[in-house]
Amino acid sequence: MQNKNRREDVRENFYEGKICSKERKDKRNQKQSNAFIKYVEINRYKEIAMNYADIKFPDIQDGEGIRVALYVSGCHFHCKECHNKDAWDFNYGKKFTNDTINEIIDILKKPYVQGLSLLGGEPLEPLNQEGILPLLRKLRKEFPEKDVWCWTGYDFDKDILNKMYKENKITHELINYIDIIVDGQFEIENKLTNLIFRGSTNQRKIDVKESLKNGKTVILKFGDESRYENKKAKIMHFEEFKKLKEENDDENINAIPIFDLNQINNFEEENIEPIEIKENEQSVAAKGINDNYIGGNL
Ligand code: SF4
Repeated sequence: MQNKNRREDVRENFYEGKICSKERKDKRNQKQSNAFIKYVEINRYKEIAMNYADIKFPDIQDGEGIRVALYVSGCHFHCKECHNKDAWDFNYGKKFTNDTINEIIDILKKPYVQGLSLLGGEPLEPLNQEGILPLLRKLRKEFPEKDVWCWTGYDFDKDILNKMYKENKITHELINYIDIIVDGQFEIENKLTNLIFRGSTNQRKIDVKESLKNGKTVILKFGDESRYENKKAKIMHFEEFKKLKEENDDENINAIPIFDLNQINNFEEENIEPIEIKENEQSVAAKGINDNYIGGNL
């Protein structure tokens, strides 16, 4: 409706009456028409605002330390078995406004808050980049020491570093403000319940600053990789695992305990080599799973 009124205003101004030759009139009409299209484009663009689903504080699950997490709305990836389907819709949740930015900045003022986490939905949808940029500008100006983590379904090398970062000014600026990106879509066939800061093993933790400096992707460890990477371990249900552990009283059990029996079918055991589960890995992994059942003490 607002667009329509604006359009009418503009048309009236444009066609307000001077009598002139047909040629001049045509020329002027063409100019006006181009200007009008540009005007509508610009104003339509201005009216699009990001929505967000939630602000979580304090948040200790999405990145290191105590954080504030912004869950934006809108995601076109539509991963199979995504847990956040409501947030696929760009209109879901509330409008992201200057007040929202100030609310987040106020939280970040607390000295014990380590940083901001951006999740979704998809924070790097072009529309959402527009919404997030003013927040990150402010954050970087006021708290250069705080860190920013961002979860995206885009592939860091292909979609971000070699495309959006080079071709799009907004992405370029935005990515410069981010410290860690966890990239890749959620893949149900690579899902493990006890992963830290991600849902499936294909997702990577990327050091953005180092990647930009080196012109290639620099991958960091989540801390639980050795439990499945290039190694062979027995995947077993947690109850079975607990029994084995009790019976053997062995510190190093060559197994990855899981909670969902269906997951066992997703693994081909011959492709996984036995590994030792070290104590520090157990407690780190436990943080990401369920405090009640493990408490860091397998
Ligand atoms: S990228 Fe994230 S929010 Fe989007 S569909 Fe996949 S899991 Fe869901």
